[in-house]
Amino acid sequence: MRRPPPEPMLEFPPLTKATMYCRGCWYALDGVAEDRCPECGRPFNPADRRTYRTKSRREWWSSLRRRFTAAFLVLLVFLLLAGGWLYRRYRIEKDAIAEFNAGNIYVDTAPLGPQRRNQ
Ligand SMILES: [Zn+2]
Repeated sequence: MRRPPPEPMLEFPPLTKATMYCRGCWYALDGVAEDRCPECGRPFNPADRRTYRTKSRREWWSSLRRRFTAAFLVLLVFLLLAGGWLYRRYRIEKDAIAEFNAGNIYVDTAPLGPQRRNQ
């Protein structure tokens, strides 16, 4: 007994990533007949990039998350450097203040600004 030949696989059109997404509802607008979102009715102009999105919702969030992560890391590095600098200054100042409090340092002060001659 011979098995029937396998069904030919269905030919799907090659999967291409959409390049235009509705600004209102994220609908993929590639191949839409009219210049209007079939989902929410928002008009768009394929010639004007500002009238549609170029990233899917997922890509948009992923890009946003990436930017926030980068900004957070920059901020973290800055805070660590600033904290390290402050701690180092604190260590230096702490010793100087201890010296001052122990009476080993005498600070002579003079008034700022013009002084009266005859008083
Ligand atoms: Zn829409």
